[in-house]
Amino acid sequence: MLSINGVSKSFGGVHALRDVRMAIPAGVITSVIGPNGAGKSTLMNVISGYATPSAGEVHLDGARISGLPPHRICAMGLARSFQNLQMFVDMPAWEVVATGFYRHQRASLLADLLNLPSSRAEERTAEADARKLLQFLDLDPVWWQRRAGDLSYGLQRKLEIGRALATGPRLLLLDEPAAGLNTSETTALGQLFRKIIAMGVTLVLVEHDLDLVMAVSDSIYVLDAGTVIARGGGEEVRRDPLVMAAYLGL
Ligand code: ADP
Ligand code: MG
Repeated sequence: MLSINGVSKSFGGVHALRDVRMAIPAGVITSVIGPNGAGKSTLMNVISGYATPSAGEVHLDGARISGLPPHRICAMGLARSFQNLQMFVDMPAWEVVATGFYRHQRASLLADLLNLPSSRAEERTAEADARKLLQFLDLDPVWWQRRAGDLSYGLQRKLEIGRALATGPRLLLLDEPAAGLNTSETTALGQLFRKIIAMGVTLVLVEHDLDLVMAVSDSIYVLDAGTVIARGGGEEVRRDPLVMAAYLGL
């Protein structure tokens, strides 16, 4: 579904990515792990159009997306969240999610995913659609009308995922979604990933929490110093000597 063909990215003298190649299939969870500074966020930026590769190309379902601006890539069905929370703190929680509907013409796709009635448009409001999505996210209704900034950090991260889902993506990139979450929030997030996959959205995760990565990933790529040093299933990657060296400095 997503193919990354020899992508490099330099910032001045810093080679953040060097000849990265990945083939990410539809319908599964693929994770990208690696130490701080490995180039994970840069890769997410290149895929989603927030950075232009210095070399190489990215294709989504065969169409070249590298070089396109983020809103075009999003309109083609690729949504993302950011490592650092980007929240409209003064909006009601439901409206933060609803901003995803307004940004693109893909809300009807999400309606299909969530089985919303789509025939009589006048009966469907952004608020009603947002409610369905908030239910899907398991966000307690007591929060729906509250100012987003009043929600806990963990719940704000949930809203951010909701906003990305509201654009009706086929592929969703999440950059360190578990950062700052407690253990029970992290477990719930893993369950949410499975629900997202079940509704037909493909997931790419950048994640630091290795227990979460091992629990949810179908396939894992390991980046170190801008290069893919290993790929495979959880056990394979965990035992890889290069991976142990990158993580433990052995
Ligand atoms: P990760 O997400 O794996 O921690 P990043 O992709 O954020 O890594 O960073 C990879 C490398 O690229 C780091 O050395 C970082 O300092 C550098 N880098 C990232 N973004 C920029 C930028 N906008 N300007 C200059 N250097 C950058
Ligand atoms: Mg990062």
